[in-house]
Amino acid sequence: MILSEEQKNHYKRHIIIPEIGEQGQKKLLDSTVYVYCENTDSLRPLAYYLAALGTGKIFCYLKDEEDADSLFDEVIDLNNDTTIDYLNEKNEKNRIKNNQNDDKNEKNRPQNSYRIVLGNLNFIKNLAAELVNDEFIPTIISVNSQWKGTIQTFQIEKLFKNFIDLLKTDKNLCSNSPAYLANALSATLCAGEYIKLCLGIGKTRNDMLFFDLFNMEFNQTESNINLPEFLDESYSMDIKQKLSDAKVLIVGVGGLGSPAAYGMTIADVNTLGLLDLDEVEMSNLNRQILHSFSRIGMPKVSSAKFLLKKLNPNINIKTHTTELTKDNAEEIFSEYDLIIAAVDNIPTRYLINDTCFLINKPCSEAGVLRFDGTATTIVPHQGHCYRCLYPNANSSNLSGDNGVLGVVPGAMGFIQAAEAVKILSGLGKTLKNKILLFDSLEMDFNIIDIGRAPQCPTCGGK
Ligand SMILES: [Zn+2]
Repeated sequence: MILSEEQKNHYKRHIIIPEIGEQGQKKLLDSTVYVYCENTDSLRPLAYYLAALGTGKIFCYLKDEEDADSLFDEVIDLNNDTTIDYLNEKNEKNRIKNNQNDDKNEKNRPQNSYRIVLGNLNFIKNLAAELVNDEFIPTIISVNSQWKGTIQTFQIEKLFKNFIDLLKTDKNLCSNSPAYLANALSATLCAGEYIKLCLGIGKTRNDMLFFDLFNMEFNQTESNINLPEFLDESYSMDIKQKLSDAKVLIVGVGGLGSPAAYGMTIADVNTLGLLDLDEVEMSNLNRQILHSFSRIGMPKVSSAKFLLKKLNPNINIKTHTTELTKDNAEEIFSEYDLIIAAVDNIPTRYLINDTCFLINKPCSEAGVLRFDGTATTIVPHQGHCYRCLYPNANSSNLSGDNGVLGVVPGAMGFIQAAEAVKILSGLGKTLKNKILLFDSLEMDFNIIDIGRAPQCPTCGGK
């Protein structure tokens, strides 16, 4: 037996994916990830997802360690198979000493170990010398501003050093960006790259992917882009003020709803409604980052509220411990400005879509299956609706009984939060009349233009 019965239940959504299986999950549990972040705000989404996936050991370099102990407690409660500790001098010396006792010629880093560097340009630039001097292990670097980010995976030391050299020679750096939605999305992408490295599946991002959530653009390049120029954010930033009255309902507080709610919480929305009838189960915890071992059996809406209030005490949270039905949907939705559909079945998607159309509420919609995700934004009377896209969807296709890699709903949920912020503020470009397709095995995003279907039973005019 590779995993215990409890672990088989815990990770079952991973284990039923053939590319992962029990062997793959065991590899993750035996792996070590060294994480470099500026502070706990920046580390939090990455630490949550690494722990949820079943990473064995996490060591954290933090420039600012404030509140890290409390974050570490949350991480261990999310997954007690994971250990998390500071990567400080004391740990380093112990590690080297222990290894020297075993075998003097052994490398410093344990086998099956990876490095993730996630932060703004100044942070990474200041860390450059340290990163290059350390023993090289496969490294994922993500540089972010508030809405924009890059990700690249390095398996060859020389290419990694070339990249770091680029940062060192840049003089014209943009200011420090606080951790925001780009940081959160990048966290899931970094964790996805680590999974692929660890399991030897898919294709890692050896060229640079860069994204702009504000304008909903995803591009790749093999040439050297000017990072300070790309990451510079010059557009209007009075978003926080525009969200100070906004009320958002999230239907489903699971794989998609957890990151969507996290995103709305860091974006400082006025009121967050959470609707879910389910209780927290162990098999949720490989991806549903708002829940934890100690809250198994608690209604998901209460478990989520507990954590979100810790992250942002100012946010108002209203819980709806109920199932969404055609009898209550209109009444509940009418209290909110926007609906985030974070559900795992087609009939509820249709119900959300039709209710939003009827009472004219915008909706952010997403779906996930195995390594793939989709997202789209529906603005009634201005663009397509869910039934335009899927007039006769097969409801067995996207049920929760299928496997899903934990980071895929993470990425989609953070994108839903970004879409919600843009719709509520009236700024930026959204996925209205577009659908985003995410393939985590290829680390590839595609955005396709779509339109209203004249024959649509909901918005086709009949
Ligand atoms: Zn339609």
